[in-house]
Amino acid sequence: MRALQIPSWKADPVLVEVPEPEPGPGEVVVRIAGAGACHSDLHLLHDFTEGMLPWNPPFTLGHENAGWVHALGPGVSGLEVGEAVAVYGPWGCGRCPRCRVGMENYCERAAEIGAAGGGLGRDGGMAPLMLVPSSRLLVPLWDLDPVQAAPLTDAGLTPYHAIRRSAELLRPGSTTVVIGIGGLGHMGVQILAATTPTRVVAVDTRPEALDLAARAGAALTLVAGDDTAEAILDTTEGRGVDVVVDMVGSDATMALAVAVLRPYSHLTVVGIGGGTMPFGFFSVPYECSVATTYWGSLPELAEVVELARRGLIGAEITRVGLDDAATAYEDLAHGRVSGRLVVVP
Ligand code: NAD
Ligand code: ZN
Ligand code: ZN
Repeated sequence: MRALQIPSWKADPVLVEVPEPEPGPGEVVVRIAGAGACHSDLHLLHDFTEGMLPWNPPFTLGHENAGWVHALGPGVSGLEVGEAVAVYGPWGCGRCPRCRVGMENYCERAAEIGAAGGGLGRDGGMAPLMLVPSSRLLVPLWDLDPVQAAPLTDAGLTPYHAIRRSAELLRPGSTTVVIGIGGLGHMGVQILAATTPTRVVAVDTRPEALDLAARAGAALTLVAGDDTAEAILDTTEGRGVDVVVDMVGSDATMALAVAVLRPYSHLTVVGIGGGTMPFGFFSVPYECSVATTYWGSLPELAEVVELARRGLIGAEITRVGLDDAATAYEDLAHGRVSGRLVVVP
C-alpha cells in the first residue's frame, strides 16, 4: 500500500510503498477513513533533529485518525470488524496509574517505553491501513462519519483538555480569548461555546480565520496587531480576561495574553510556536496560572465524540487524497487552510 512518510529529519513528506500491517496478539488494524493534517507535523518535518525526540524517521505521518476496524489480532474482543472508531493518539504503557485513568498523554513510563504514537515515531494514518497496538486506544464513533470525526482526536481533544483545566473560571460573565483560529482554534471556540457560558474573543492574523471563528461561536473577532490588547481590555471594561488559550505559542501571542489577563486567571499555551515569556511575581497578574498542555485523555476523547454526536461541535474540513497530501502540508504552512485538512487515503 502507499503511505505518506517523513523520510528523515528536516525533510518534506514523500509517498512510498510499504507492506500492509498484520495485527499481532492484542493488536487491531484500522482501515483509515481520514487522517488530519496537524500543524505539529510541520514542526516535526522542519524543526526537529536527531536526539530531540525518543524516536526517529522514517514512519508514516498522521496522528489524528479515524476509520473502521479492519482486522483483529488474536485475543482481541469487544470490537466488531467494520465498526467506526477514533484512534486515541498518545500511546502510553496502558498499565501505570496515569494510563489506568486514561491519561496516556502523561504516561509515567513514557521515557522507558519510548512513548511513540501512530504518526509520531510509529506508522500513522496517512495510508489505507494503520496498526494500533491495543483495542483500548480505539473509541467507538457509533453513527459519526469517521472522515468528519478524524479531527476530533487532536484538533478537538487537545483544546477540550486545555479548556477543561479552566472549567472553574469559565463562569457567566467571564471572557476567554482564543489566539490562533486554525484546526485547533476553531474547535476550541466551538467547545467553549457549546460547554460554557463564557464570552469568546478570537484573535488571528488572517481575516478568513476570523470568519471561521465567528461561525464557530466567537462573540468578538480581532485581527492580531498593535492595538489588539487595548481592544480586548475595552471589551471587558478594563477588567481583563479570565482565560487565554494560546494556540500559537509565540513571544508575541504570550505577551498579548499577559497584557490582557486579569488577576486570578489562566494562561494555557497549546501552540508549539517556540516562544517564551518572563515569569515572576510582577511579570504576570496575581494568581495567574500558566501552563502548557499536551493532548488529552481517553475519557475526554469519549466526551468530545459525544459532543460531536449531539451536533454541538464539528470540524470544518477540506478533504484531500493521498496524492495531494504533501501539497496540503504546504498549504497549511502558508496559511491557506481554513479549519482542518483531512487526508482521505
Ligand atoms: P493551524 O495552522 O491550523 O492554525 C494556526 C492558526 O494560528 C492559523 O489560523 C494562523 O493564522 C494563526 N496564527 C499564526 N500566528 C499568529 C499570531 N501571531 N497571532 C494570531 N494568530 C496567529 O495549526 P493547528 O494545527 O491548529 O495547531 C496550532 C498549534 O498547536 C501548532 O503549534 C501545533 O503544533 C500545536 N499543537 C499542540 C498540541 C498540544 O498537545 N499541545 C496538539 C496539536 C497541535
Ligand atoms: Zn497534532
Ligand atoms: Zn503509562
